[in-house]
Amino acid sequence: MFDIYCSTCDRIYIVGTASLTGFANTDNGPLGRVACPVGHDVVVDFGAGRAGRPTTSSSDAALAA
Ligand SMILES: [Zn+2]
Repeated sequence: MFDIYCSTCDRIYIVGTASLTGFANTDNGPLGRVACPVGHDVVVDFGAGRAGRPTTSSSDAALAA
């Protein structure tokens, strides 16, 4: 599950992967296309600070310290 912001509804929803209507891996990161519970088309940027994303640079710094 993940959260989406629907600009048409002007609210945030929690949705499951069943709401995914499409996705693409672009040069700027993964993008998903999701239908909000009302049915609006919402584009989700999965590369923009999503939780659970590994931060190898910080762990490398911790190892070097
Ligand atoms: Zn909506």
